[in-house]
Amino acid sequence: MAIDLVKAAKEKGIKYFLISYTDLYGVQRAKLAPAQAIGDMAKNGAGFAGFATWLSMSPADPDLFAVPDPDSLIQLPWKPEVGWLAADLWMAGKEVEHAPRNMLKRMLASAESDGYTLKTGVECEFFLITPDGKRVSDEADTQEKSCYDQQALMRRYEVITELCDSMLSLGWAPYQNDHEDANGQFEMNWEYDHALLTADRHAFFKFMAKSIAEKHGMRATFMPKPFVNLTGNGCHAHVSLWDGKKNLFSDPKGELGVSQLGYHFIGGLIHNADALCALTNPTVNSYKRINAPRTISGATWAPNSVTYTGNNRTHMIRIPDAGRFEFRLADGAVNPYLLQAGLLASGLDGIRQKRDPGKRLDINMYTDGHKVKGAKRLPLNLLDALRSLEKSSVLRSMLGSEFVDGYTKMRHNDWNAYSRQLTDWERDNTLDC
Ligand SMILES: [Mg+2]
Repeated sequence: MAIDLVKAAKEKGIKYFLISYTDLYGVQRAKLAPAQAIGDMAKNGAGFAGFATWLSMSPADPDLFAVPDPDSLIQLPWKPEVGWLAADLWMAGKEVEHAPRNMLKRMLASAESDGYTLKTGVECEFFLITPDGKRVSDEADTQEKSCYDQQALMRRYEVITELCDSMLSLGWAPYQNDHEDANGQFEMNWEYDHALLTADRHAFFKFMAKSIAEKHGMRATFMPKPFVNLTGNGCHAHVSLWDGKKNLFSDPKGELGVSQLGYHFIGGLIHNADALCALTNPTVNSYKRINAPRTISGATWAPNSVTYTGNNRTHMIRIPDAGRFEFRLADGAVNPYLLQAGLLASGLDGIRQKRDPGKRLDINMYTDGHKVKGAKRLPLNLLDALRSLEKSSVLRSMLGSEFVDGYTKMRHNDWNAYSRQLTDWERDNTLDC
């Protein structure tokens, strides 16, 4: 049964509710409603002008209503008098087809009708940088191989443990925190769960990490490649399909303990990777993380090819263990809802079409990738990915034309704005032409 928000406000001492939705660019938009008004808001939603945010709308459109999902309620650990609520979007009495959370719920329902429940865990890498965004916040964090650097991790103890304590208090079951491969980079892991819950938590985690970092005089960024010589921010997802308590990807007799269904799902991701990239790697900057040259630590830890493997981190998909796989393509800019919706759309296509993922490649793709014949490369830039998404009949039919056309139009504007920049590289290499 859904939580009664009026009652919850009284019991938990919540004075205000943030009625929040995530737009197509992954930006969270909210109205702050006093607890006295939540009864009405819970029924009718909070009103917005949709065009004013990254949604495919016009200034002439009627009011957009964000109707909160009471079960998504999270009391802000750093400001408990505020309750955060993820909302679904409605306009003119209908659900907005291209709203990210609505889309994910639609995909989950489609999977449920085939008897599948998607469960995922996400690994949201981020940097702690200076408030002006220019440098890593910790000036002493300069090791070439800084991954798991104990000293640097402990210099950020206050921020990391405030975040981890928050997750503990929220019941997310966090289990480890570390300094990641780049200077100033961290990762915190909590338990995997139902994909909608994971998406809501992923959205909230980004809000929480930014808020708590600000409190400590720093800035948290999930930007895919904020520093050219350092490893970028990935957002790896661990994926499995379930039927009740049964993991449908688990098969002790299958290759690496993964079932035929699991391999068809992987086949769908391989088949649709180019188009999916427009969602999982959604910014101009995303393409400076994948296909990137080696970083100072010795590796990018990001894929450059549409391939899968066993326990080997140089491919797009890694099977680290029986019963699940890790999808390593997405980056920190990915929209939490579109990540799950895109994974599921591609995977369901793989299952329904019984797509063959091809041969598992047990090689180091960073050094030996060029020796593999026929391995597809990932799109080299946002434009290529957008064109693939526009042409993808699979993702168009799964996610809807309203989304594909609206989303690609906005992202093309980004690409065009970027392309009009005159860079130092061009001047240095062209002035003497
Ligand atoms: Mg990581």
